[in-house]
Amino acid sequence: MDFLAEEISRIESAGLLRKRRRLEGPQGARVEVEGRIYSSFCSNDYLGLAAHPKLVEAAIEGAGRYGVGAGASHLLCGHTDAHEKAESALADFVGLASALLFSTGYMANLGAITALAERQDELFCDRLNHASLNDAAQLSRAKMVRYRHLDLEELESRLAGSAARRKIVVSDAVFSMDGDIAPVPELLELCERYDALLFLDDAHGFGVLGGHGGGILSHFDISSPRIVYMGTLGKAAGVAGAFVAGCGNLAQYLVQKAKTYVYTTAQPAMLAEAILASLEIIGGESWRRERLKSHVATLKSALGNRLMPSDTPIQPYVVGENQAALDLSARLRERGILIPAIRQPTVPAGTARLRISLSAAHGEEEIGDLVCALK
Ligand SMILES: *Cc1c(COP(=O)(O)O)cnc(C)c1O
Repeated sequence: MDFLAEEISRIESAGLLRKRRRLEGPQGARVEVEGRIYSSFCSNDYLGLAAHPKLVEAAIEGAGRYGVGAGASHLLCGHTDAHEKAESALADFVGLASALLFSTGYMANLGAITALAERQDELFCDRLNHASLNDAAQLSRAKMVRYRHLDLEELESRLAGSAARRKIVVSDAVFSMDGDIAPVPELLELCERYDALLFLDDAHGFGVLGGHGGGILSHFDISSPRIVYMGTLGKAAGVAGAFVAGCGNLAQYLVQKAKTYVYTTAQPAMLAEAILASLEIIGGESWRRERLKSHVATLKSALGNRLMPSDTPIQPYVVGENQAALDLSARLRERGILIPAIRQPTVPAGTARLRISLSAAHGEEEIGDLVCALK
């Protein structure tokens, strides 16, 4: 086991050691770490729902009714009416015909992509896609082509040159480390022209984009039977888990074929209850999205060109070198502000950055303090 220590010290000397912070309370705009309260710009809790009393109450009531553990996979006897209610509410929420719940977004991507693509098929993946999509593509054994970030010309020529049985374009809807939005209408047009499916990972758009938080499809006001949509429930929705939605047969197909659905214990029903409570708030309280937009505008007008171009709550502040990003993050921490330094392999080498993520839970004052500290 000597290689463990050797590898750890290699990682550390490259400035790439990852450390966990221990929160001593709930997620929020302010968090407690080692007895000190910090302003946090680290979480994906974009709407401030992770500790919302209505979600907590729904989970408690759900636990009272269903207990804590599901005790079995969905296909044995872990499936409940709460899961089904959540699935149909989620499908309605994103305007698609069917939806299936998964325990996490990572599992949803692995399960759905491997169910849709096999050896004879070809996946066309944006280079900056989330790690779970890359793993899913490899696990599927389909041919995997990675096109340059947002490069529609390259994508088109790759699609035109493919003779695969089934073609699937796979993209983050909002890129998780850059915050930019994929050109979904153009992607869909290419999929139509070359008879491909479009798999969209909307982990950072669900709840945030679109008039009622319906996500990327509502943002662009598009719909198509070619779309397979993955939304996660641990970010803006404030709970845990994910869902895959699409045409009327999709959920039924995935129940048969998605291994990460079949061979895993069902998500606890209490969480399905919390998801239903979360959807009420996401759909009903537009002020959360309005406030988020206003925070994004404030930050962008104050920090301008130091930020990568993004209109979403993910606002990366580019630094470059690993150590410089770590140092900046440490100095902010001394001032009571938590922002993680993101390094390779999460982002390309030489583009280390502070990933600022904004939340409706932040007040204007906190945004002002952040701007001040960064300046
Ligand atoms: C967070 C994330 C996932 C994984 O979702 P979890 O529910 O956290 O497992 C998938 N895709 C993207 C783009 C993400 O940011």
